[in-house]
Amino acid sequence: MTRATIIGSGPNGLAAAVTLARAGYRVRVVEAADVIGGGASTIDADVPGFRYDVGSSAHPAALASPFFQAFGLAERIEWIRPEISYAHPLDDGRAGIAWRDIDRTAEGLGADGRAWVSRLRPLSRHIEGTVDFTGNQMLRIPRDPVTAVRYALRMLDQGSGLARRSFRTEEAAGLLSGVLAHANTPLPSLAGAAAGLLLAAQGHAGGWMYPRGGAQRITDAMVADLEANGGTVETGVHVTDLATFDWGDPRRGDVLLLNSSPRLALTHPDIPARYARAISDYRYGPGAAKVDFALDGPVPWSHPLVAQSPTVHVGGTQAEVWASENAVAQGHVADRPYVLAVQPSVLDDTRAPEGKAVLWTYIHVPAHSDLDPTELITRQIERFAPGFRDRIIARTVTPATARVAFNPSNIGGDILGGAFTIGQALRRPVLSTHPWRTPMRGVYLASASTPPGPGVNGMAGWHAARTVLGDAGTPAGLQELFR
Ligand SMILES: Cc1cc2nc3c(=O)[nH]c(=O)nc-3n(C[C@H](O)[C@H](O)[C@H](O)COP(=O)(O)OP(=O)(O)OC[C@H]3O[C@@H](n4cnc5c(N)ncnc54)[C@H](O)[C@@H]3O)c2cc1C
Repeated sequence: MTRATIIGSGPNGLAAAVTLARAGYRVRVVEAADVIGGGASTIDADVPGFRYDVGSSAHPAALASPFFQAFGLAERIEWIRPEISYAHPLDDGRAGIAWRDIDRTAEGLGADGRAWVSRLRPLSRHIEGTVDFTGNQMLRIPRDPVTAVRYALRMLDQGSGLARRSFRTEEAAGLLSGVLAHANTPLPSLAGAAAGLLLAAQGHAGGWMYPRGGAQRITDAMVADLEANGGTVETGVHVTDLATFDWGDPRRGDVLLLNSSPRLALTHPDIPARYARAISDYRYGPGAAKVDFALDGPVPWSHPLVAQSPTVHVGGTQAEVWASENAVAQGHVADRPYVLAVQPSVLDDTRAPEGKAVLWTYIHVPAHSDLDPTELITRQIERFAPGFRDRIIARTVTPATARVAFNPSNIGGDILGGAFTIGQALRRPVLSTHPWRTPMRGVYLASASTPPGPGVNGMAGWHAARTVLGDAGTPAGLQELFR
């Protein structure tokens, strides 16, 4: 039986693992951490009864993923689909609210309702065409050229100074800037617009989804399927050198998939100099500094609808959000930083004891920063939720420098698998229609450092596994494998 060894148990590693196990490989996954799942894991807090997501918390892309659709993830675990996709509080108790229903969103945005709909409806209505035109897929002729052109035009609109004049109200401008800031790039920028418009469109298409119990449920579902098909996962195995790591014999068809950073490929004894140069040139981006709070009750947001929204972008006006992201790009952190916050307790009662709440937050920081962001984050939330500070029971701080201790792929604290630029969307980590295949026999890349990039969708892992099967001359349709 041919072997498939996968270094890393993140969602892409496990997507590749379940695909190859079902295709008949003897699959072994090795994981450096003590917890399985990489960016899709949930752990107990130091205080009993509270559970934090280590990485992903909101899942705009999970159920739209062709891999997860074939895998049947919607049926394997319980999902919560909130009416509000995300909220954006402003001073004086105001807020922009993105409902899943785009018309309801427009109604709330008043004078800017029409401008919001004209920018996002053409993308959310044709979400498959929008998703199709991302990452290295831009290198080929799009399957839905009309949507691709609309997406490109909106990227130019939101990725340039024109974005300053898109909306009349601070609510609408702030609301969209909060989604565009996810990409951890300077703003306005084409990369920020590409990522943010997709997320915003997903907010009005399938919605931003939450697995009941936390991101770990996604991982558990894949591990259960893997084990049912004879595969194994070993934790506490940190691979540092491919020259000494035993993964079988590629001449017999054994394969190795790196769910780790592509930089691990540099330790392969047969790596060609040109490929090594390309991998070395691939850049990591700024970091994330995270604080998970255990709270004595819900966050006391001034605006009642913000209190109902699982995801909250806390950054003030568009100008403030831009200033925050541009400060990071220039190597420092703004006094009023953009905070990404998820309050799973508003919809999931498994995450905290009754009446209590968890709050997941992070800010963007320069790479390798050791900043403890607790005070900056607390002040920003307190600004829109007076009394927040008094609800804090405990907190767990993960500065950017500490991330690699949990996940060696988070180099410098980068949680996106590499700097998110238009260049690196195409060249991820090399310019190729099949970047999952390396020039070393039997070795493949299967992580967010390959297309389609970051997010819990399993697609990079599935593309890698499909490339393995194609190279072995046994291409199997995804649908048949999971039927
Ligand atoms: C704080 C944070 C918040 C996020 N928020 C969201 C969100 O809300 N929604 C969303 O969709 N996405 C979010 N993401 C991004 C998402 O989690 C990642 O894009 C996704 O997990 C990438 O999957 P992956 O399988 O490629 O890699 P990872 O999830 O990074 O997994 C890689 C695995 O490989 C292991 N590994 C690495 N190197 C080695 C080695 N040398 N030896 C052994 N094991 C190794 C790591 O320990 C890790 O378990 C977030 C990530 C973080 C960290």
